[in-house]
Amino acid sequence: MTFKILGIIEPILKALKAEDYTHPTPIQGKSIPILLRGKDLLGCAQTGTGKTAAFAIPILQHLYLAWQKNKRPRKIRALIITPTRELALQISDSFTTYGKFTGVKNTVIFGGVKQGTQTEALRRGIDVLVATPGRLLDLMQQGYISLKDIEYFVLDEADRMLDMGFIHDIRKIIAKLPAQRQSLFFSATMPKDIVELSRKILGSPEKVIVKPEQTTAEKVEQSVYFVNKKSKIKLLVHLLRVERFDSVLVFSRTKHGANKIVRLLEKANIDADAIHGNKSQGARQRALNNFKSGRTNILVATDIAARGIDVEELALVVNYDLPNIPETYVHRIGRTGRASASGIALSFCDGEEKAYLRDIQKLIDQEISVVAEHPFASDFVEEAPKSSARPQRPQRHPWSKKSGGGSRNNSNKSRRRPHSQKQR
Ligand code: AMP
Repeated sequence: MTFKILGIIEPILKALKAEDYTHPTPIQGKSIPILLRGKDLLGCAQTGTGKTAAFAIPILQHLYLAWQKNKRPRKIRALIITPTRELALQISDSFTTYGKFTGVKNTVIFGGVKQGTQTEALRRGIDVLVATPGRLLDLMQQGYISLKDIEYFVLDEADRMLDMGFIHDIRKIIAKLPAQRQSLFFSATMPKDIVELSRKILGSPEKVIVKPEQTTAEKVEQSVYFVNKKSKIKLLVHLLRVERFDSVLVFSRTKHGANKIVRLLEKANIDADAIHGNKSQGARQRALNNFKSGRTNILVATDIAARGIDVEELALVVNYDLPNIPETYVHRIGRTGRASASGIALSFCDGEEKAYLRDIQKLIDQEISVVAEHPFASDFVEEAPKSSARPQRPQRHPWSKKSGGGSRNNSNKSRRRPHSQKQR
């Protein structure tokens, strides 16, 4: 399938070509035709599947064609709500990239920074607004934004919105939307409360499901290390020394934990940076830019701060703490193995986290292989339950496996830094 066959217009095809997008991803192939027909959409897909382009391309196309037909004044016609600033910035960048030959203008608004630049962009006039819920309501109350001309509404990462307590804000926003509109609703998971929320927003939607099993969980090579809480940092240092990866994202459950990991890594002469909600927007953006450009190889993040991280060729995800919400695990490992790339995800599981591991394996419907041979394995006191977490076969480090698959080995190699390149 090609983008041209999906009926995408020339100015957008040109932008996609410039991005080297040769073929639509599965979610794009399924969603774009539905959205071009003007139908509502319920999409079950996570970040990393190409879902931003799946909704941005049809919206840009509708707006461009409407403008060609009738040169109406610029008003906010499309609204995209997303939970975090990083994600909002990323979506706005995507609209700019895919829409660069269409003349469609977008801007992004989020909290934690002064509003002046944002209100100035709104005053100049835009077609597409990407927003986090709090700042949107704030600027609506101050009279800078009206939603009365909205024709396209996207609620992105709905499950995460609810986790973050945005439900009341979302209800207030929906109440201000015109009844006549096209609505899109995306969520990585579909528990009951999400299905209920989707009913409030969508008419009779078409459904598109890209299951994690078909995407992340299948593509990412996953392993777990049973290790005591105290030995986790030693294990991390050991792994980072055994094999030097270009870009490693380490997940910590807490902000305090993230700072501590960075401190201890630095003590071991390993450069790392932390990204979490206690850091200013400037500091977060700097940490992210350093990581993306390769100046920092290791980024330690909390879940919320990591939502918008989109690093091509992210080599390795380390779950330093296992998440208590199994869906979060899928979100985390989705940071590696994005679009068509494959990746590696390693999890550290201490005695108290075994129940989390069981929930995760149930959700992804896979047994994560256990790396039994590691220097801190003997410290681990608690026995793994026989039924689920026991290794089938003791496994060595995933990257030291001789898989024989040429492309897999090559792709792994390309993501690692040669040992001589930089001494930590
Ligand atoms: P998303 O799920 O929207 O966060 O996209 C994940 C990544 O896939 C981003 O880096 C996009 O630039 C990239 N991407 C999206 N669509 C395509 C495509 N058709 N071909 C190649 N890369 C893509």
